[in-house]
Amino acid sequence: MKKLAALIAVLVVGTFTFILACQPKAAVNAETATAAAAEPEPTPPAVTNNEPITIAAVGDIMMGSPFPNDSRMPPNDGADLFKEVTPILSAADIAFGNLEGPIIDNGVSAKCPPRSTRCFAFRMPTRYGKYLKDAGFDVMSVANNHAGDFGEAGRASTQKVLTEQGIKYAGSLQPAAVTAFLDVKGKKVGFIAFGHNNGMPSINDLDNARKLVADLKKRSNIVIVSFHGGGEGTDRQHVPNGTEIFLGENRGNLRAFTHTVVDAGADIVLGHGPHVMRGMELYKDRLIVYSMGNFCTYGWFGLAAETALGKIVEAKIAADGKFISGKINATKQEGRGGPLLDSAGTAIRVVRNLSTADFGANAPKIADDGTFTKE
Ligand SMILES: [Zn+2]
Repeated sequence: MKKLAALIAVLVVGTFTFILACQPKAAVNAETATAAAAEPEPTPPAVTNNEPITIAAVGDIMMGSPFPNDSRMPPNDGADLFKEVTPILSAADIAFGNLEGPIIDNGVSAKCPPRSTRCFAFRMPTRYGKYLKDAGFDVMSVANNHAGDFGEAGRASTQKVLTEQGIKYAGSLQPAAVTAFLDVKGKKVGFIAFGHNNGMPSINDLDNARKLVADLKKRSNIVIVSFHGGGEGTDRQHVPNGTEIFLGENRGNLRAFTHTVVDAGADIVLGHGPHVMRGMELYKDRLIVYSMGNFCTYGWFGLAAETALGKIVEAKIAADGKFISGKINATKQEGRGGPLLDSAGTAIRVVRNLSTADFGANAPKIADDGTFTKE
């Protein structure tokens, strides 16, 4: 009898191990998630300071890439790239940007076939990492279509450089890189970044996005969601109803995505990816910024008319996450790039027109100086 029981036990354990080994990764993660759900529900930490917090957010950042060749590197080895915008970024409680490429010193990208003309791969020098810190950045998205340009080595090097600089990041499926937390003015701020490529939380999986954000909300007082999505280019400035397909890729149903994450607990949603401005929307008293355009994209990006425009969106949000007020600081890039403050305020007018056209009564009221409020 004992022998038979032992044999059955071996068979059962063996079969279970075999089943586990054959599960695709997602299924194993689901197992882990179920196991985690059995633990006591997390509760957000107590807020010890009820003051509002300020966030300064910008779009795409690629400080210069010596790949595919080093003919387009910034002057003074990039040291002056953020000079004009540093006072605004460093004044905010949290400064956010989308890091559109890996920070790694060598390697060859497997991404683009030889002689391709529509495929670009970038890598920023590791010595440029400190420019981000010096500019005032606190947290960055690494969920975008260039984050994987130099594979896992590129992702790992980027994470190492950002960590060395004390900059938090999120936007990868590695357990430690799905979310990040910041302690700001007596509040725990949770951060998560979505994109449309493999290896990152997906804007196209609304059920999972809802779960991830709801879980983050249980651990945070305020939740910031970043997304990289939408078609690219000057004819893609409006946020359409429905799914956007660009270069054959599903780049998200952004209205559905943003409302889903706000419904799940997001307090501010920061979008980028189209390389042009898009409008802003207030939904359930939360601010949604659909695209912040090219902010600091040196050398390899097309910068003309709308693609040369950028902005720093400053937002003040209450301890309970509600939007209080904001300001658009118009920026622009000239020549090969690098953000300059735009005294003509072009981006302010562009964003105001797009916001009204796309979101009507739900658009924030944007004044000529860029300040904006709900009413
Ligand atoms: Zn992109």
